[in-house]
Amino acid sequence: MNRSKPSVLLASNNAHKHRELRDIFEMSDCPVELMLPREIGIRVEPAEDADSYLGNARIKARAFAQAAAQRGVQVWVLADDSGLEVDALGGRPGLHSSRYHQQAPAGDGCQALLEELADVPDPNRTARFRAVIVLIDPAGCEHVFEGVCEGRISHEKRGANGFGFDPVFVTGDGRTMAELPAEAKHRISHRGIAARQAVELIRRVNDETLA
Ligand code: IMP
Repeated sequence: MNRSKPSVLLASNNAHKHRELRDIFEMSDCPVELMLPREIGIRVEPAEDADSYLGNARIKARAFAQAAAQRGVQVWVLADDSGLEVDALGGRPGLHSSRYHQQAPAGDGCQALLEELADVPDPNRTARFRAVIVLIDPAGCEHVFEGVCEGRISHEKRGANGFGFDPVFVTGDGRTMAELPAEAKHRISHRGIAARQAVELIRRVNDETLA
């Protein structure tokens, strides 16, 4: 593979995360390129059965790092585990956000959430997105970053951008995440906050290596 920049392997098969993290890396002028598992022929689907975001991110990062090493590819590996925590639901769906969509009628987790919260008044509709990133450097050391984005759950779905719970997550300016252009979402999102910290570490190590 002829690449002008070193690479970070994304430990995910999720197309939305691919797009968002690629955008965030570009916006941050990251000195390394984000590489997708399929670009180096990796197909790994580890069971995400830990009891924390950190545990799940670690499972993914280690599984993809091992697969890359087996192919003789020595790269940074980045895994993101994330979820939506709704205060009125005691922090659910949280770790199980992805499953919440899968188990909702017609796969519509946003509608299911609106129905669960139908009787919850505005002041109690607070929620947050949380993302934990595990980054494994080429020497095999793990680094952990976290990002949190506070908001509220709306009374109806609004907007067509983003994915998952974006149409029902109201941000500080009153628009839902799905009404924001991608760049505006990345500036405030849990994933943007965590990923920019990862980019800073990569930049520092890259600069030291080149010095
Ligand atoms: P993961 O692949 O286990 O990290 O699943 C994360 C789940 O949390 C997704 O399927 C979404 O339901 C939810 N989620 C995480 N980040 C976002 C986001 O940026 N927007 C909307 N939903 C999100």
